[in-house]
Amino acid sequence: MKPFNQKAKITLVGAGPGDPELLTLKGLRALQTADVILYDSLANPALLEHNQHAKKVFVGKRKGWQRYSQAEINSLLLDFARFNYHVVRLKGGDPMVFGRAMEEIETAREHGIEVEVVPGISSYSGMAAYHQLPITQRGISRSFWVMTGTNKDGRLSNDIAIAAASSATVIILMGMSKLPEIVELFTQHKSNDYPVSIVQNATRPDARVLTGQLDNIMALNAIAQLGSPGLLVFGAAANKLDAVTAHLTAQNVLA
Ligand code: SAH
Repeated sequence: MKPFNQKAKITLVGAGPGDPELLTLKGLRALQTADVILYDSLANPALLEHNQHAKKVFVGKRKGWQRYSQAEINSLLLDFARFNYHVVRLKGGDPMVFGRAMEEIETAREHGIEVEVVPGISSYSGMAAYHQLPITQRGISRSFWVMTGTNKDGRLSNDIAIAAASSATVIILMGMSKLPEIVELFTQHKSNDYPVSIVQNATRPDARVLTGQLDNIMALNAIAQLGSPGLLVFGAAANKLDAVTAHLTAQNVLA
């Protein structure tokens, strides 16, 4: 146990996208020096084994309960910091990418608690590497967008329509439940054979990848049933998946 006069600190640590080896050395050190670790369902629980002594608090979706609200998580962070603890908030992927990190950082700042952020490998970047999907490629895709499928008010973001009109690779997080609307939007701007992929559980042993195009991805996924957590990829990159990566295509899904 640490002496009680130790200064409180909150560290937001990027847990990476799933494979527990995709943690930075800095993230590992933060985990090892934590007194308490707050984690949710996207962080691989294997990462908790790096620290046998810390208290571990699950702040994800509780069975039969509502998900912890951001306000509840913020107040837990403060409660633990009041014990002069080093509090690690372990977050899936990179904390600064759709991770509501800023609300936790501001909570710490408002109370004068030291706060540090350790980056992590985001799900889109882990997916691109493990499935050899070139989110940029010379002469084919010159930029990429990483966007959310779900706005604060639960609606589709207007940015998706702008992205759909571009030639960029478009990667959508939190979009699985909005797949029909998103495909519909792309159909207004692109031809029916425009490539689409879905990657579920990227970088994990149980990863599943489905490749199709605008006019068949809905039907293919009605059979393959890929779900959360999943990434949607639109654009030429989506059909460049490495052949050795186990994945589902129209041929084998319909076979
Ligand atoms: N900070 C995270 C994103 C949090 S939002 C990051 O940098 O990746 C949660 C969304 O991330 C999920 O709905 C899903 O779209 C995506 N996601 C996270 N981990 C994933 C994984 N292993 N495979 C596929 N999608 C993932």
